[in-house]
Amino acid sequence: MKVAALTRERLLRGWEEGLGRGRVARAVALAAAAGGHSFAEACDLPLGARDALLVGLRDACVRGDVQALADCPACGEELDVAVPLSDLDRRGEAVPGEVAVGGRRVGFRALTSRDVLAAEAAGPTRAAARRCLVGRCVLAVDGEAVEGEAVDALDDEVLDAVAAALPAVDPGADIRLDLTCALCGHGWAAPFDVAAHLWADVDACARGLLGEVHALARAYGWREEEVLALSAARRRFYLEAVGA
Ligand SMILES: [Zn+2]
Repeated sequence: MKVAALTRERLLRGWEEGLGRGRVARAVALAAAAGGHSFAEACDLPLGARDALLVGLRDACVRGDVQALADCPACGEELDVAVPLSDLDRRGEAVPGEVAVGGRRVGFRALTSRDVLAAEAAGPTRAAARRCLVGRCVLAVDGEAVEGEAVDALDDEVLDAVAAALPAVDPGADIRLDLTCALCGHGWAAPFDVAAHLWADVDACARGLLGEVHALARAYGWREEEVLALSAARRRFYLEAVGA
């Protein structure tokens, strides 16, 4: 595993903090470690910026394409998809947005992980979660700040318009893959959830590293940080020397 010492340290920290958490919190933990942020700071990153950190971490610890599955919407065939990491590396800064709705100007911002976590906890129905999620992004209507009860009073027309405009303000959070079904030839743009797909690779990389620490610590009596500080070439030499 050719991972720089700093990245190894961050990878293991993010992995450890992400273990046992839900999908979104795991992504936040990895992004926090990758970017040198606290968990709270990483919660407030726009989703595109968070996912760019995850892609960078994945790039540093695992070579090769991301493997994913997709169901063809036309015939239902399940496809194996190999996604080059370069297809996921879309760094566009998130910017504030504004939409015109029924004569009103509605200002809004990009989604963050904190919004997604709040929406997950918002209520039993999809409608409640969506209202929470989109409502949190609304900053102002006709220049008047929207907070607290004013968010609850936003009508569906406003929420629909903001929801439709969200991808444009954070392009990195809206990754779609152009897929073609091998069975029926149908082509479509499939949304791709970076956070959901990269955890498994990072998890495997972290467990591999800890396995190497285990073998070398047991053979030589070295401490964890001493093993992690070794270059990949030296670790490989010593692992071969002890027959691990
Ligand atoms: Zn098909």
